[in-house]
Amino acid sequence: MLRYEEAIEIILKNTKLIGKEKIFLNDALGRVLAEDVIADRDNPPADNSGMDGFAVRHEDILGATEDNPAVLTLYGESKAGDLPPKLEKGYAIPIYTGALIPQGADTVIQKELTKVENSKVYIFKELKKGSNIRQKAGDYKKGDILIKSGKTIRPAEIGILSSVNKPTVYVYQKPKVGIITTGDEILDIAEPITKESQIRTSNTYSLYAQVLQTGAQPVIIGFAKDKPEDIKDKLESAKNCDVLLTTGGVSVGEYDLVKDFVKEILKVNVHFWKVAIKPGKPLVFGTWGEKDEKLFFGIPGNPVASMVVFEIFVKPALKKMMGYQKVFNPTFEAILTEDFSRKSADRMEFIRVSVEYKDGNFFATPFGKQGSNILTGMVNANGLGLIDIDVYNLQKGDKIKVVMFDLEI
Ligand code: AMP
Ligand code: MG
Repeated sequence: MLRYEEAIEIILKNTKLIGKEKIFLNDALGRVLAEDVIADRDNPPADNSGMDGFAVRHEDILGATEDNPAVLTLYGESKAGDLPPKLEKGYAIPIYTGALIPQGADTVIQKELTKVENSKVYIFKELKKGSNIRQKAGDYKKGDILIKSGKTIRPAEIGILSSVNKPTVYVYQKPKVGIITTGDEILDIAEPITKESQIRTSNTYSLYAQVLQTGAQPVIIGFAKDKPEDIKDKLESAKNCDVLLTTGGVSVGEYDLVKDFVKEILKVNVHFWKVAIKPGKPLVFGTWGEKDEKLFFGIPGNPVASMVVFEIFVKPALKKMMGYQKVFNPTFEAILTEDFSRKSADRMEFIRVSVEYKDGNFFATPFGKQGSNILTGMVNANGLGLIDIDVYNLQKGDKIKVVMFDLEI
């Protein structure tokens, strides 16, 4: 059976970048930049002061000490936003942080090293020439690439975009991700339960939330019973999605119809069915659309399988589609706090763990009940511990790789 590493490689290899769109800067937080950001001018645009103090000529403060201060006559002022007067020999101009360096000045003495008396300033220390001056273009030059396309826009990027005068910005579009829930037994929220055999959906809304969390646009297409007409009907409604997720109906059971009908209705080109992972083995992956630019994930119905498959396969694909440079969840090593054992080791297992940071180490505690139907395991976990194929037993103190799905540690 296909291994996890092979499956994710196939998925990412077949995932194409979605188109761009122009949006307002204030809507850009968390989106992915789809253009390089170029400096429209030097920054700083001119030499300016890094301190409140006095702009002087270095030659006028040579040898200044506590006991033998340089004494200069005050003249004019340089405030941020103003054009200062020229500095003549023997004078000092009061200057403030960010204000332009007057012509003729080459050094700024901070206020703390001076005393003012009767229109004179006493300077108690000779600083090096150029002290406290922020050089023109010291941060960047006009024409420099300040942020490369593909970067996630955080508050710092918003700040740069604003400073280079961009009220709008090109970002990658949010893929429209359709969700079809299948199963005769599955009911939507608020549908009355009339039989013990009925199950209230969790996958529809956990997937919806996961799609939102990834920054894409979820669309609930509907609920289909395990009947050909019903499934076909819902698939017809999925045609304008960029990515289609179905839940349920992909295992070998008699009613597992989804994987056949997506071929028929959406012309999905199925790349694989089944991966050697636990939970989530019956995953189907395919591509479709005019240029095979759309993705299809047939996600197994078990609630934990559904969430895990999203985290390890769907999320990286959506992120790649949306132009993210980093597509994987943060992954690191943690120390197991309990022994772990299993009876069969033919699949890579993603166990629900709670990860804590203590005394310089991350510790992973597996949740007691690991069944793929036990959603409370996800509620109590913040990460997935990876147990590799052929590993049967692990001991307390062993290190395991952990894929975090949230960073509340
Ligand atoms: P399936 O993949 O259709 O064989 O379903 C596997 C298991 O997951 C069954 O026990 C289903 O009842 C359950 N299941 C399927 N879909 C959902 C859903 N949307 N919400 C909660 N449980 C589900
Ligand atoms: Mg089913």
